[in-house]
Amino acid sequence: AQKRYASIREKPAETLDGTTIHLQMNAGLMADLPSLEGSGAEGVGLFRTELQFLIRNQMPKRTELAEIYSKVMDSAKGKRVVFRTLDIGSDKVLPYMAPQDEPNPALGWRAIRVGLDKPGVLRMQLQALLRAANGRPLTVMFPFIAQFEEFRAAKAEMEKAVERERRLGHILPDTLDVGAMLETPSLGFAPQKFFEEVGFISIGGNDLKQFFFAADRENERVRRRYDTLNVSFLTFIEGIVNRCNSTKTPVSFCGEDAGRPLEAVCLAAMGLRNLSMRPASIGPVKSILRRTNLAEVRKIIVDARERGDQSVRAAVKAYLKETG
Ligand code: PEP
Ligand code: MG
Repeated sequence: AQKRYASIREKPAETLDGTTIHLQMNAGLMADLPSLEGSGAEGVGLFRTELQFLIRNQMPKRTELAEIYSKVMDSAKGKRVVFRTLDIGSDKVLPYMAPQDEPNPALGWRAIRVGLDKPGVLRMQLQALLRAANGRPLTVMFPFIAQFEEFRAAKAEMEKAVERERRLGHILPDTLDVGAMLETPSLGFAPQKFFEEVGFISIGGNDLKQFFFAADRENERVRRRYDTLNVSFLTFIEGIVNRCNSTKTPVSFCGEDAGRPLEAVCLAAMGLRNLSMRPASIGPVKSILRRTNLAEVRKIIVDARERGDQSVRAAVKAYLKETG
């Protein structure tokens, strides 16, 4: 499939009306990294660090992690890699951690909640990331931030880790960018100050959609019931993008929908300029964006909203078919 899109690999994802959308790739294993060149991605918008924990039968050591993260940065050859700290719990269970018997794991003790309540592993991971950067730029984001205070507390852990490295005489990252994943609707309504303080926001559409519609992403009975191109959901996304723009907070979208051509076009029409997706989706998404007039798609969405349509899928699909 990548061959098919080879001719546009070096070209930007620029729409017909002149907007450039930056396409990043999602990764989680060393084996994903070669795709960075092959796919034409501008960087790694989401590096899911839990995979390194999930493929082992015991907790990885700090030195092992630092080595892996360093290799990831090496193979990115200076392109930005956004490392997401451990996102466990819910659908991602570590075999060597006592299972939590929770009635609703998706709403339970997971991701940054674990990281803040039992900070041992988070601290070890932050230290590994700082060591791996070894003077290079470092970008880290925290998963599942539901309120400002959680971001502040997580960022304080990072600051403490930096301070410790400084004391120990280790080289600090050249630049340090610390962001939050927006995966719960609550964070979309966080105080203005949050948007000012956070380094960047990455919308985790998989979780955000599950919580927006209260529909379990793992439950076949309900997971397809609500459309990502539902007008309410797109309006919510648009609101988040507008808030980020008003504080000049960089914002990207890294859920699976970013890699679906129709969805990607609509997300761009809602104002997103950074999309992160699996490597194989970069070609198809770029190809459709290059054939799209974003202002026209925007108009279709606004009209659908005014008509009271539930979803814009049919209208946008028809438009894209028409334009070839
Ligand atoms: C998301 O929720 O959209 C996301 C990117 O994170 P994950 O799929 O790993 O939960
Ligand atoms: Mg998520």
